[in-house]
Amino acid sequence: MDFDLSEELEALQTSVRRLAQDKVKPRARAIDKDGTYPQDLFEAFRDAGLLGLCLPTEYGGSGAGILGLAIAIEEVAKYSNSAALMLLLTRLPTGPVMIAGTEAQKARYLPGIADGSLRAAFGLSEPQAGSDVMGMRTKGVPEGGTGTGTGSGAGSGWILNGTKCWMSGVREADWYTVFAKTSGDPASRSHDSITAFIVEREWEGVEMGRTDHKMGVKGVDTGELLLNDVHVPAENVIGEVGGFRLAMLGLNAMRPIVAARGIGLAEGALMYATEYVQQRAAFGKTIADFQGIQWEIAKCAVDIEAARLLTYRSAVMADRGQYTKEFVPYLSMAKYHATEMAVRASSLAVQLLGAAGYMEDHPTEQWYRDAKQLTIVEGTSQVQLDLIARGVLDRDLWWD
Ligand SMILES: Cc1cc2nc3c(=O)[nH]c(=O)nc-3n(C[C@H](O)[C@H](O)[C@H](O)COP(=O)(O)OP(=O)(O)OC[C@H]3O[C@@H](n4cnc5c(N)ncnc54)[C@H](O)[C@@H]3O)c2cc1C
Repeated sequence: MDFDLSEELEALQTSVRRLAQDKVKPRARAIDKDGTYPQDLFEAFRDAGLLGLCLPTEYGGSGAGILGLAIAIEEVAKYSNSAALMLLLTRLPTGPVMIAGTEAQKARYLPGIADGSLRAAFGLSEPQAGSDVMGMRTKGVPEGGTGTGTGSGAGSGWILNGTKCWMSGVREADWYTVFAKTSGDPASRSHDSITAFIVEREWEGVEMGRTDHKMGVKGVDTGELLLNDVHVPAENVIGEVGGFRLAMLGLNAMRPIVAARGIGLAEGALMYATEYVQQRAAFGKTIADFQGIQWEIAKCAVDIEAARLLTYRSAVMADRGQYTKEFVPYLSMAKYHATEMAVRASSLAVQLLGAAGYMEDHPTEQWYRDAKQLTIVEGTSQVQLDLIARGVLDRDLWWD
């Protein structure tokens, strides 16, 4: 067991830390206020080679893996969770392609992500189907088929119809990983009824729907993707027809990356609040001199380090390909703990600054708003708890 980062990962951490301090920190408040996409930061990440961190070298990436991406995201999220989301989006939609895509799909869609010439987004959720993925209504029908078969006869392709919602980065994306029911029966809850497709933005019938007005993580829009009789060639099916498992594998491997957004945010918030209480005078001392405050800082520091260990371990597991069912509790635990901890840490930071923390003069109120989405996205805290409990009940997580 080795708790140290490799030399390469340490160098990555140092360089991203500097970039985050120089470029992300000064922009974070303006991004939150304007809500406009920070193209300048996207280009800074591209120039620093960060867009290809999790992509294999043969497709233009640097092969730093999920751990490398998590480390970079942790640094960026100290200042801006929107900027961290831009990095996350290099993995969320590309994950299924990397796990189950064909060589042709990888060659066509991945290098552009690494060099910044293409962006992608991930469409699983629908207005009536968030946690309950099987409730999706987006339908894929074999071209020329009746839509009542098994889907295996889609020689020339598929026709997709439906609405995906809350999709992060929907407006900037050039292509989408989209999931649809392909079994013919929209009410089917069978796991082989869902299939993943790559859909290009420019194709006929692909349209943007509403853009959401969000509480936080502004600048990278979430919104609807409308699919109206979109023709998808057969070669753009990712993995097997009926591959619901692929959606889950993709999300399992993402847990450490979402967790990293939480630990970075918490670290940024605690450091900021600590500096503040060390300066702020009250009762002839500084606020930091009070033991009650010191203990809150200490508890938050313990929380952060516990979350970091869970996150790094889960990232190493995911990089080893350990994101199948038996590893789920460890991955879910990192996401659950790090994101809930981020909410607690950002709340503490607001509290430690008092009224100042509630005002827009300080970034604490932004961290507080941004943190909350982390316990909802990519599997809510309740969903993670279900998965962890299932792991214990099934003895995937057992200490004997
Ligand atoms: C900012 C943001 C960005 C997003 N980006 C994307 C994206 O890029 N792509 C995408 O596909 N989706 C995206 N989503 C959607 C996100 O994945 C869903 O919001 C999430 O899966 C939860 O679904 P829901 O919102 O429908 O909540 P629901 O499923 O309706 O759940 C509501 C509440 O009930 C709880 N609950 C549900 N089922 C159970 C249960 N069985 N036991 C106990 N409690 C339960 C939930 O935990 C939650 O607290 C995004 C969401 C947000 C907020």
